[in-house]
Amino acid sequence: MKFASEFRDPALAKALLARIGGVADQIGATREKPVHIMEICGGHTHSIFRYGLDKLIHPGVEFIHGPGCPVCVLPMSRVDECVEIAMRPGVIFTTFGDAMRVPGHKMSLMQAKAAGADIRMVYSPLDALELARRNPDREVVFFGLGFETTTPSTALSIQAAAREGLTNFTVFCNHITVPEPIKALLDDPDMMLDGFIGPGHVSMVIGTHPYDFIARDYGKPIVVAGFEPTDLLQSVLMVLTQIAEGRAAVENQYARVVPQNGNPVSLAAIADVYERRPSFEWRGLGEIDASGLRIRPKYRAFDAEEKFGIGYAVGRKVVEEPEGCACGAVMTGRIKPTACPQFGKGCTPDMPLGALMVSSEGACAAYWQYGGSRGLAAE
Ligand code: SF4
Repeated sequence: MKFASEFRDPALAKALLARIGGVADQIGATREKPVHIMEICGGHTHSIFRYGLDKLIHPGVEFIHGPGCPVCVLPMSRVDECVEIAMRPGVIFTTFGDAMRVPGHKMSLMQAKAAGADIRMVYSPLDALELARRNPDREVVFFGLGFETTTPSTALSIQAAAREGLTNFTVFCNHITVPEPIKALLDDPDMMLDGFIGPGHVSMVIGTHPYDFIARDYGKPIVVAGFEPTDLLQSVLMVLTQIAEGRAAVENQYARVVPQNGNPVSLAAIADVYERRPSFEWRGLGEIDASGLRIRPKYRAFDAEEKFGIGYAVGRKVVEEPEGCACGAVMTGRIKPTACPQFGKGCTPDMPLGALMVSSEGACAAYWQYGGSRGLAAE
C-alpha cells in the first residue's frame, strides 16, 4: 500500500473488525470482561477517536489511554520554571505551540507572553538556533520537550551551537523516555493491562528492542503501530492473536517506517549530548527512575538549568495539582477523561485545568474534539 486512502479503506477496515471480533469471541472477551489494551502514544489515542474505532470495535476490546503525550506528563512545576526563565530580562524563550497553553501554577506561557515576556513559537530547535545567531545580545532559550521522537533534533541543535561557538543559546531540557513509565505502570499492582499498542514515531528512533522486557519479564504482548485506522486495527488483531495463542512478543506492524534497531544517526546524537537523570517527575506518575534526560557536562554551556540556576540544578519545588483535577488518573488509564469531575465543567479547551485538554495528543482533548456531547453522555 502506498497512499493514505489505502490505509483508510472501509472494506479493509470492516474485514479487520470482523477478524478482531472472531478472536475476541474465541478468547471470551466481553463488554463486562474486556481485554485491556493500552495505546501508549497520544497520537494513537487521537487516531482511535478521530476514526471512531472505539465505537466500531468488538465490545470486548477496551482501549486504555497511556501516558504517551509529552506535554501532558509535564508537571506544573516545570511550566512554572519555564515562566520564570522567560520572565528574565534579555531572554527570548522559544517553544513548540503545543506547550503555550499548558497551565502552570500561576500562569501558562501564553499568559506570561501577554504579561510582557518575549516568548516565541518555533517549529524546530533549529529555528531557535537561528534566532540566537540573529540576536547575539539576547539569551535564546529553547524549551526541549518530548519523547525520543524530538530528542534527536534538540541534540543536533546543541551540537551545532557548540560547533559555531554560540554563547547565547541554551536548552531547558525536559526530554523523557518511553520504556521507563511503561515499566512503572506494569509494576503497579492496580493496573490490569493485557497488551500494548507501541508508539510509532518513538520507535522509528529507538527501534523495537527497548520493549523486549515487556514480553520477556511481564509476559505482555506489544505491537508497534502506525497511525492510520487499518494500522491500528491490524495491531489490535496482532495483540489479540498473541493472547489467543498464549504467547507474548514484541511485534512490528509499522515496519514500513520503524527499523528493528532504530535510527543510528539519531541514536548517536542522543548518546553524545544527553545522559540519564537519576529520576524525573511525571505528572500523575510521580518521580520515575532514569526516565528523563539531561545535557552532558561537556555541553553544560548549553544547559538552561545550569545557566539560570533553576530546576534540578538547584533543587525543585513540588507543586500540587489543582483541586478536583484527575489528570494523573486519566494519564495512567485508571479512568476515562469523561469521568474526571472537571471535564467540560471546570476544564474546557478555552479554560483548561490540565494539559490533557489542550495538547494535540491529550486524551481529554480527543474526547472533547471527537466525542462532543456524546462523549459527555457516555459515562
Ligand atoms: S478534564 Fe481537565 S482536569 Fe480533568 S483530567 Fe482532563 S485535563 Fe485534567
